[in-house]
Amino acid sequence: MPRDSKPRPLLPVDDARARILEGLVPGDAERCALAEAMGRVVASDVASRLSLPPEAVSAMDGYAIRVADCQTVGATLTRIGESAAGRPWDGRLGPGQAVRIFTGAVVPDGADGIILQEDVEAGSETDGAVITVNEVPRDGQFIRPAGLDVTAGDIILTAGTVMSARLISLATSAGHTDISVWRRPHIGVLSTGDELVLPGDVPERGQIISSNATYLAAFIRACGAVPVDLGIARDRAGAMLEQVRAASLPLDMVVTTGGASVGTHDHLVSDLSSAGTELGFWKIAMRPGKPLLHGRIDGIPLLGLPGNPVSSAVCANIFLRPAIAQLSGSKHRPQMIAAELTEALRENDQRQDYLRSSLRYGEDGRARVTPARKQDSSMISIYANADALIVRPPFDAAKSAGDQVMVMRLDPLM
Ligand code: AMP
Ligand code: MG
Repeated sequence: MPRDSKPRPLLPVDDARARILEGLVPGDAERCALAEAMGRVVASDVASRLSLPPEAVSAMDGYAIRVADCQTVGATLTRIGESAAGRPWDGRLGPGQAVRIFTGAVVPDGADGIILQEDVEAGSETDGAVITVNEVPRDGQFIRPAGLDVTAGDIILTAGTVMSARLISLATSAGHTDISVWRRPHIGVLSTGDELVLPGDVPERGQIISSNATYLAAFIRACGAVPVDLGIARDRAGAMLEQVRAASLPLDMVVTTGGASVGTHDHLVSDLSSAGTELGFWKIAMRPGKPLLHGRIDGIPLLGLPGNPVSSAVCANIFLRPAIAQLSGSKHRPQMIAAELTEALRENDQRQDYLRSSLRYGEDGRARVTPARKQDSSMISIYANADALIVRPPFDAAKSAGDQVMVMRLDPLM
């Protein structure tokens, strides 16, 4: 068992993240129906098959006219037809003529403006009616020209984009029914510890219910990946390797929790020093979550998170989320905002601090953030109800109420 006897400098968070992301690439691309594409990552650029709108259409209910015919209030036109959505009028508008038109209907040839129905006096709702102009129209008014929104051939989705309901709508309008996306990565989740019982089992004295794997499975799904349950490895040499190697599916990454220190009952470090594996054992300059393992088992990247539920959850946000994004072909950008502290903070030490906090917007629209009174990394009740983490850089000076700090908003689903 290697002992971490000589003190090593703490690794900065950004350096650790960069090393974790090194070499992570997405798997294969696959076709995905747009109806199922929410949260999927576009694998190759998508061009529009159509121009939107394909022809000039009316933006309003009224009359398609020639603007030159309507230059005086009181001018009169003759209604000669009707163009409704889905039922275009196929003729050509001549001098002194008007075509009744409705929103979304094709503008007839010869017309160069739409006059609103409330800006005319119409003799009747039938062809032949006399239409009196009450308001002089502007050139081209209320016409949406062909290609106003999108031109056929325009790139509407770029590789690496995460599909949203809005983008699904855009791609559907552009004539697509399915797109090429990256395969969802498979992330193995392994808990470690002799004290753990499965959810549903009644813990005996000294035992606790394993919650990290449940958290991580939900987290991984929310990141758009597929969690693969690897169970609980007991605190003995080799248990972790056996369980990873017995996975039911090919894995793109393994995440473990606990057992990452070098205590008598922590075996991950020694397991990862064996054949077919690689070990990186880091002490990260962050709180919560100092010990972090990084390595490979039979070529599969492994991320060893701390055992404490809050530490493992915060580390999942900081390290696992960008790793999953990269394995999925996208890039994760944390949502950082500036907020005003509602209470004072002492100066920070050498570790980057992630304080569980509550973020509120005042009536003035400004963000205010209150750190939880207790920041113990075992307290899942505090983390579960937090909505933000105040991120304090190493050696940050003491802060007073009213000072600004940077805040990472927690994803409401994570
Ligand atoms: P370790 O890093 O293995 O020493 O674990 C640190 C702390 O996290 C211990 O108090 C463990 O009981 C707790 N812990 C480890 N794994 C889990 C888990 N899967 N669910 C909940 N707590 C855990
Ligand atoms: Mg343990």
